[in-house]
Amino acid sequence: MAIFPFIFLNKEAAKKDVVLLNHEKIHIRQQLELLIVPFYLIYVVNYLYELIQTWNHEQAYRKILFEQEAYNNESDLEYLNKRKKFAYIDYL
Ligand SMILES: [Zn+2]
Repeated sequence: MAIFPFIFLNKEAAKKDVVLLNHEKIHIRQQLELLIVPFYLIYVVNYLYELIQTWNHEQAYRKILFEQEAYNNESDLEYLNKRKKFAYIDYL
């Protein structure tokens, strides 16, 4: 979980997981672009909208536009160096 400016990892081993760390760094970038609080408002509204559509937590969570961007690019460790601003809009 990433809450600017911190990344919280629940296992010591996870700190060594570069893909997970990259995923959370993508969320930090998203939060900075939206000045933190609006990120969470959009995140929750997007989640609730998807939850009403699917009635499935996992599906709703994975359809949040911020999560789609993070999951689609977490394996690319150079992603944040080449990412265009507000890239999550492509997932609308
Ligand atoms: Zn995420």
